[in-house]
Amino acid sequence: MVETCYIPKDLAEALRIRKETGARPIAGGTDLMVVHRRGTGIVPTFPWPVMIVTQLDELKGIFAEDGQVSILSGSTCHELESSELLPYQVRKAASLMGAQSLRNLATIGGNVCNASPKGDLPVPLIMLDAKVELVSATGSRQMLLDEFITGPKKTALQDDELLYRIIIPTPKQPFCYLWYRKIGTRRANAISKLSMSAALTVDEKGNIIDFRCANGASGPKVARSRKVEEMVIGTHVDELEAKLESILDAYDSILSPHAMPQYRRSSTRRMLAYFLTEVSKMPDRTIIE
Ligand SMILES: Cc1cc2nc3c(=O)[nH]c(=O)nc-3n(C[C@H](O)[C@H](O)[C@H](O)COP(=O)(O)OP(=O)(O)OC[C@H]3O[C@@H](n4cnc5c(N)ncnc54)[C@H](O)[C@@H]3O)c2cc1C
Repeated sequence: MVETCYIPKDLAEALRIRKETGARPIAGGTDLMVVHRRGTGIVPTFPWPVMIVTQLDELKGIFAEDGQVSILSGSTCHELESSELLPYQVRKAASLMGAQSLRNLATIGGNVCNASPKGDLPVPLIMLDAKVELVSATGSRQMLLDEFITGPKKTALQDDELLYRIIIPTPKQPFCYLWYRKIGTRRANAISKLSMSAALTVDEKGNIIDFRCANGASGPKVARSRKVEEMVIGTHVDELEAKLESILDAYDSILSPHAMPQYRRSSTRRMLAYFLTEVSKMPDRTIIE
């Protein structure tokens, strides 16, 4: 059975259609069209009404204001990787998603709302304390992205809502050390086997005053532990090596990988050890490769 496909002309019409019919949005279609494919050259069918939102200019753009950066949900991965307004880890994660042809279509809204445990963009975004803004015909609300994604393929999105934008707050002090790493089967078009995003700030004496770390594909949701971060904050960079094993053990306890648990645990351990060890070797303000 072919269900209705709506093509709203603006956001107000999209929100009215969403409220009246519950039609599901299609942005780039790189998740939805693949899940519902029927074969080469055959149009996919959906078991519910759908609404194409790709043409809505009100969902496109990346801008900075009031000490935060907003990414409108229809922004593509290519737009993200090319934006100088965005933190390094978000640009890097976007640049490693699929191939160029995919990045021209795939949107941040689709990646976040798909809520795959292997999705790449939520990892740096959750590390950066990003929030989402959801809109409906009757209003809008904001919540932390970490709370919006409630489990594998599950979000707090209501049937009458659309994701409008992702908001990244600017940290109180600029990060000194930035890192993003994705492990996939090959360079392009590979879904993450693991990914990690980390950032760290030191004061002029070398004391760590901010540390964040999040990783993907190692549990039902992006893993991040404030407890582990607090173990690192307050330490002098020269003391990191001595504390490394206890930090790694504590981080390991927050992981719950479903498949290949040994591989995922040991690789995550190695990634975090690499970042923290490089920090103690590198000069200030460095992107760690
Ligand atoms: C070959 C290939 C390679 C891939 N590689 C990667 C990769 O490396 N990393 C990765 O993370 N993913 C990858 N993906 C998955 C996919 O491309 C991404 O998740 C992409 O960001 C999805 O965006 P989209 O706009 O295409 O989403 P769509 O397919 O259009 O939508 C996905 C979901 O989000 C919902 N949605 C979209 N926009 C909104 C909105 N504004 N409000 C509310 N809900 C919305 C849709 O209803 C749907 O449930 C790959 C896919 C393919 C086919």
